[in-house]
Amino acid sequence: MSAQIINGKAIAESTLNDVQTRVNARIASGKRAPALAVVLLGADPASAIYVRNKRLACEKVGIKSIAYELPASTSEVELLELIEKLNTDDEIDGILVQSPLPLQIDEKHILEQISVAKDVDGFHPYNIGRLAVRQPTLRSCTPFGVIKMLQTTGIELLGLDAVVIGVSNHVGRPMALELLLAGCTVTCCHRHTKDLQGNVERADIVVVAAGKAGLVKGEWIKQGAIVIDIGINRLADGTLCGDVDFATAKERAGWITPVPGGVGPMTVATLMENTLLAQELRE
Ligand code: NAD
Repeated sequence: MSAQIINGKAIAESTLNDVQTRVNARIASGKRAPALAVVLLGADPASAIYVRNKRLACEKVGIKSIAYELPASTSEVELLELIEKLNTDDEIDGILVQSPLPLQIDEKHILEQISVAKDVDGFHPYNIGRLAVRQPTLRSCTPFGVIKMLQTTGIELLGLDAVVIGVSNHVGRPMALELLLAGCTVTCCHRHTKDLQGNVERADIVVVAAGKAGLVKGEWIKQGAIVIDIGINRLADGTLCGDVDFATAKERAGWITPVPGGVGPMTVATLMENTLLAQELRE
């Protein structure tokens, strides 16, 4: 059996078209376009690519994107001053501070200072907390994007055994909360988990966000399981791959996401949705 591919690129495209239609309708009714402030510190090449993709998505859907490109030497106080300015600017609906941040800056502190109403990345402890108590508002982009990908399979998620590998604040933890909200029985695995293979073998849904190429072997996948690979790894030859051994996993899985072209585009599309939602909620 060869798995059906969950085409993140196509699902993202349809999400972006929907956002574009809603933005156009707002503008036609005399309202202003949503606006996203994108703050980038330093010249990390991967961050520059992510920021560029977000700007291109904004252009496509009609969201105004305002770039703040600051030197890597920016102090925490200077960054906080900018965030305060953006928090109080009525014409800004979303604020995104691209990670990783330079070492002199405490990322947790910065994220907590972003207005919860403009936290379109969904990283603020308040927004993660809302998800935890089943009242999600602005949801973390990658995990919420994964839920939308799962929904396109048409498979009932209620009661399925889901395993999430990786428990970071931005990805793994909110992913586990999303799956719990969807009614799955959720197991969280991380670098100290004793029996990763055994956990994966029992899972109906495997979501991997560890950033380790080849971590999940294809032979571990239960026949017919859904495999979502969030990991992005650059190999020595420059190609990108996920955390799952795709070639062997796709022979056992029922559904699987590719890397690239899987979760990545959905993360950006969900950011666009969140920016529009943030504007709607502030009205
Ligand atoms: P992170 O380094 O903050 O967290 C990694 C997690 O993986 C940790 O919880 C760690 O315990 C776990 N882990 C590491 N080695 C492990 C092992 N051998 N066994 C089990 N668990 C292990 O990383 P992150 O920010 O959560 O990102 C994870 C991956 O997802 C990265 O490759 C990143 O590039 C990718 N990512 C992709 C998207 C996207 O849109 N596709 C978005 C965000 C992150």
